[in-house]
Amino acid sequence: MVNRSDLLLKASEILLSKKDSLGKTMVSEMGKPLTQAIAETEKCAWVCRYYAENGERFLADKEVETGNKKSFVAFKPLGVVLAVMPWNFPLWQVFRFAAPTLMAGNTAILKHASNVPACAKAIEEIFSEAGFPDGVFTTLLAKSDQVSGIIGNSHIKAVTLTGSEHAGIAIAGTAGRNLKKSVLELGGSDPYLILEDADLKHAAEQCVTSRMQNNGQSCIAAKRFILVESVYDEFMKYFKAEMDKYIMADPMQPDTLLGPMARHDLRDELHGQVKVSVQKGAQLVCGGYIPDHPGAMYPATILANVQPGMPSWDEELFGPVASVIKVKDEKEAITIANITDFGLGAAVFTQDLEKGERIAANELHAGACFVNSFVKSDPRLPFGGIGKSGYGRELSEFGILEFVNIKSVCID
Ligand code: NAP
Repeated sequence: MVNRSDLLLKASEILLSKKDSLGKTMVSEMGKPLTQAIAETEKCAWVCRYYAENGERFLADKEVETGNKKSFVAFKPLGVVLAVMPWNFPLWQVFRFAAPTLMAGNTAILKHASNVPACAKAIEEIFSEAGFPDGVFTTLLAKSDQVSGIIGNSHIKAVTLTGSEHAGIAIAGTAGRNLKKSVLELGGSDPYLILEDADLKHAAEQCVTSRMQNNGQSCIAAKRFILVESVYDEFMKYFKAEMDKYIMADPMQPDTLLGPMARHDLRDELHGQVKVSVQKGAQLVCGGYIPDHPGAMYPATILANVQPGMPSWDEELFGPVASVIKVKDEKEAITIANITDFGLGAAVFTQDLEKGERIAANELHAGACFVNSFVKSDPRLPFGGIGKSGYGRELSEFGILEFVNIKSVCID
């Protein structure tokens, strides 16, 4: 008999065998650089393999000593889970939901973002080609105003959204009114703290890679750079030199680092946030203009002297724009890092690893805190946020337990 882990392993192989064509589909629909799109497909193969190899262990009955003849906790599927997904990582966001959800015995319905229909269909085909029976994974080319009706359908048992705060409020509200479980992965305004004993060149490389990956359109991109004043000038030299490497170019070319944003309206919204920040006193170090270039291009942009009341301080900037904040010392850096309604990721750069660990573990308020490197998702670690970044967790053992009935069984 074929089991679910064999099917997931097969899906993993198919992803690897099609990584070039899947990568090109992503680039043509939303503009990310081709090398990053191929790497994204490889990561999807990894998450399928991870749950194929570990799912059975995560879902095994767990005996508990209670005084009954026998008692144990069992993990049973919920049924049909709806996933409402964004365009920015069109394959990864879906596979990181689908691999654990299918491994747990659920079935899935995908409502993908409207601007990536070919990716949505390609994902359905991968699961079908891997041998999952018809109806186990289904793509619906639905519009966002149809989502509440779908959630209300009695066959749907739970819903997960990766997307904006606005969509989160709508979907969580509908799920709540229908008494259905929901998981929300929303936006972030991740702070990166550069302390006075940081390796500044390394910190600048990590910060810029994080800010600029996926043309700046990542929920866990570094968004606010909080520098203690004693290292400000030197860090900014390295930081600007790294940002200057990101030259706007055709995303299909293998050496391109910065392609177009996904849509013109998103680019124009970002430019509006930059313009208002500058009107309110932010200093433009580089970028900050609409280029004469085909596609929704936006240049690598640094805003310094960012202050409360500016969009670059108060809001998520979902594109290639870095907000730089100068502070007196470490204490002020931590305070400002935590002044946000979001809580997805955070990073701290210091060569004192004990101090870094203390700040990451105890003082920064976020779902993932890294020391001396940028925040990344990893199938082995839970992923998710606090506050307006959402609730629930994906990936790891915690992720597979979101859409199961955690059932107590007692025998006397
Ligand atoms: P979005 O506008 O919220 O769209 C995400 C998905 O939700 C799309 O499928 C969209 O459908 C749907 N949607 C939008 N409004 C809806 C509503 N009122 N009711 C039901 N469905 C609705 O977000 P986006 O602009 O595509 O993505 C960017 C946001 O996602 C950023 O805030 C980013 O930080 C966040 N994000 C978070 C994570 C994470 O893991 N935490 C990862 C990636 C992105 P249509 O396309 O048809 O409108």
